[in-house]
Amino acid sequence: MKILFLDQSGKPGGAELCLLDIAKTYRGCLVCLFADGFFRTMLEEEQIPVKVLATAIDVQKDSSTLQGVYSIGRLLPLAISVARLSRKYDLIYANTQKALVVGALASVLSRRSLVFHLHDILSLEHFSKTNQRIAVTLANRFASLVIANSQASQSAFIAAGGQAKLTQVVYNGFNLAAYRDIASQRQPTRQALGFTDRDFVVGHFSRLAPWKGQHLLIEALTHCPESVSAMFVGDALFGERDYVTQLQQQVKDLHLEHRVRFVGFRSDVAELMAACDLVAHTSTAPEPFGRVIVEAMLCGTPVVAAAAGGAMELVADGVTGWLVAPGDPVKLAAVIVQCYDRPSIAQEIAATAQIQASQRFDLTAIARQIDRILVRVVG
Ligand code: UDP
Repeated sequence: MKILFLDQSGKPGGAELCLLDIAKTYRGCLVCLFADGFFRTMLEEEQIPVKVLATAIDVQKDSSTLQGVYSIGRLLPLAISVARLSRKYDLIYANTQKALVVGALASVLSRRSLVFHLHDILSLEHFSKTNQRIAVTLANRFASLVIANSQASQSAFIAAGGQAKLTQVVYNGFNLAAYRDIASQRQPTRQALGFTDRDFVVGHFSRLAPWKGQHLLIEALTHCPESVSAMFVGDALFGERDYVTQLQQQVKDLHLEHRVRFVGFRSDVAELMAACDLVAHTSTAPEPFGRVIVEAMLCGTPVVAAAAGGAMELVADGVTGWLVAPGDPVKLAAVIVQCYDRPSIAQEIAATAQIQASQRFDLTAIARQIDRILVRVVG
């Protein structure tokens, strides 16, 4: 099957990393990006054909109706280019909200089927009413299928007016081979990072953004023993520079400089997770899926997650990890201390999670599932 994938971002967020794994399985595909960046390089490294259709798209998440309509007008030239390209493909696969807008217009022009992969929770915490309405209206009217990345995303789509019959939940898949034997990387990676055996390292893997809640882990450290440190992996991908300054100030104010490390965006996430004693997910708003939670499980590292959205579908509290109320640094600290005090119990839970995660999120099985439903759409 020949698929034309559309994604608005040149930066590798969770939606883009998911797309990369799916696109890899389709030889005759093309990925069109609406912005250039490191994600293009990642696609090229995997020999996935990629084309950057550079344009200024400014539908902000909090756009008003007027801005929304105005921006859609500005997208028309882009949609015409995509429509031309799509004539060589069986299907247009929109991977983000703005890609949905362009893909919907292009699908009308080229009469190609449209699939929308929904990686977001359409709620006011993430999107303005206008943008929710645009996404739902376009998906209802033009998409043959909406792949929701969790039941949480699916429910929010339906609650926002999306047609239930269009939707199908498919979780992200992960290449299990990348995690085999990852535990052997623990010691060398810890050494390279300068951690000793005495350090209890809590890793946080996410772009730096207020709703990802890095500040909560910093706050939680003040309720933990001195040998507990935090390592933040990820960068401000979408211009959240004020938040970065705020985090640095918080570390200074709490005198935690010796216990907190920011290592920036990294491509060796699995190795870094294996080097951690615990991975913390601290989003303050419901996470649509939460790739980092599954990745930690696959690495065999215990994980604590914020109890909302997709995370609730990934973690069984006390069985495959821990769930704490979002925005509660004291409860988060309690779980950290529990893992610190009883490492063997934490390891048992992590081992159960590792087995379950490799059964539930195997990329080979999930890619097959996606292919089956796409064949139905095209067929
Ligand atoms: N990630 C990465 N390098 C980093 C930080 C994060 O490759 O420095 C990856 C992480 O491993 C995960 C993705 O970015 O696969 C984030 O996905 P998630 O679903 O957790 O959050 P999203 O970005 O979709 O909000």
